[in-house]
Amino acid sequence: MTDEEREIIRNQITRQIVVVNKSIETLSELISGEVQSDANDWFTSKEANPSKEINEMALAKAKQKLVVLKNVLTRVDSPGYGICINCGRPIPFERLKALPAATRCMSCG
Ligand SMILES: [Zn+2]
Repeated sequence: MTDEEREIIRNQITRQIVVVNKSIETLSELISGEVQSDANDWFTSKEANPSKEINEMALAKAKQKLVVLKNVLTRVDSPGYGICINCGRPIPFERLKALPAATRCMSCG
């Protein structure tokens, strides 16, 4: 993997972290009830809010993703990054670009 490719991957991860951070922020606000989503307007106040549970699940997922992304960011510069942990062959750049956390090549899945 070239330095240029590493740089592209690093930028990609950083961008994804920004996106995930933003959704964590939005979801936290939705859950705490500070802002009302459009979806919430469809329900009257008497009814339970079914979207809260969905938001909490999405928040947990987003937090998990953030941990993974931050972890990948620390690995990008290590020599082992981009090498398949199964067969030891380089993982195609296009796959890493789409899935920076990938630790296996296409064929090892
Ligand atoms: Zn492999």
